Formats: sequence, structure tokens, C-alpha cells
Amino acid sequence: MIIDKWHAPIREAFERTMFAATELQLVTTSPRIFIERAELRISQGGPDKRWLGGTTNTQNGVSPVVYASTCARYTDKAAYLEFLAPGGNAHTYRKQVWAEAAQIAATGAWPHVEYYRICRDPDIGMFTSDDPLDHINAAMCHEVAHAVQHWEKHYQWGKSHGTDWSPHGTFWRETYRALRNELFNPWRNVEQLAANEEK
Ligand SMILES: [Zn+2]
Repeated sequence: MIIDKWHAPIREAFERTMFAATELQLVTTSPRIFIERAELRISQGGPDKRWLGGTTNTQNGVSPVVYASTCARYTDKAAYLEFLAPGGNAHTYRKQVWAEAAQIAATGAWPHVEYYRICRDPDIGMFTSDDPLDHINAAMCHEVAHAVQHWEKHYQWGKSHGTDWSPHGTFWRETYRALRNELFNPWRNVEQLAANEEK
């Protein structure tokens, strides 16, 4: 048996986020079945393993699924800084957002990278944190939003003219925003704590 200390926190984040998606009524089609069929697949992962969210085809139709990896760069600051360092793997992506993340990493902070179009969004953009759980929770909100997006698209296709179902499109973005605001926005919590202390 392979034991990885990140399995339990990842599973906890998965369950919490899946339930939040139904509680917040982001899942409009059969939320009970969404939860029942929800599946988490954790791999030990090599450096190229990525987190993915979506649905998988099963005998019953489709099932929401999140593929998570315990690859060190998701859970270890030093591994992530190495990934972003000059000559590290991130540089093969050649995207502006990775250059910005590399600049942040060069200061010694651990950035949580998001897509360029949303990286400056105050709710769903990039942030820095030295706590691996913050990175796991934010990644889980991102991937569960994909699972919701795929589920809703599957069941609402044809009934929902004008909905932007694209992978990081409007529907996904607003789902991700609702989950992040509900479950996780560390800078907000810090601001809130500071405000409370001042009172
Ligand atoms: Zn995504």
C-alpha cells in the first residue's frame, strides 16, 4: 500500500467542495446524483502530472470526477519554486502568466498560478501562500468548477442557448468564483481577521 500524507487533506477538500457546489445550488441538475457519483482519483504523480476536473462516462451516464496529483510541486514550496526557477519546467509553457509567477517566485513567495485572463481577478486570481493546504483548496475549487461545468453542460445542452460552456468560460468562471468565495479566499480571511482585531 502506498501511503501519502496528502491523500487525506485532498479527499477532505474534494468532499467539502463537492458538497458546497450542491449547497450553493451551482448544480441544478440532480444534485443528489451529482454527489453520489462524484469520484476523486489521486495519483502519486510525476512532475508532469496535472490536476484535472470534469466528468467521466459510466454505465449510468456521466459521473463528476477530479483527478488530483500529489506531485511535489502542488504540495511543496521548494518544489514549486524550483519548477518556476530559470531553466525549470514552467518555462516550457511560454505563457505570460508563468513569467509573472516566476517573478513572484524569485522573491521567495509561493504563487498560486491561474490563467492569464483571470489572474488579476480579486476573487479567482493568483495569490501567494506558504500553506500547502491553501494551494490544494484553491486547486480543488478550480477542478470542481470544471466538474460542475461538464455536468451541467451534459444535462442542459440544447436547453441553454447563449451559455458559455467553454473550459475557462463564463459559466466555469462564475462557478469557480462562488466556490472560492464560499470556501477559500485566504487574503480575504486575513483582511477580515485584521479588521476584527482593530475593532
Ligand atoms: Zn482549468
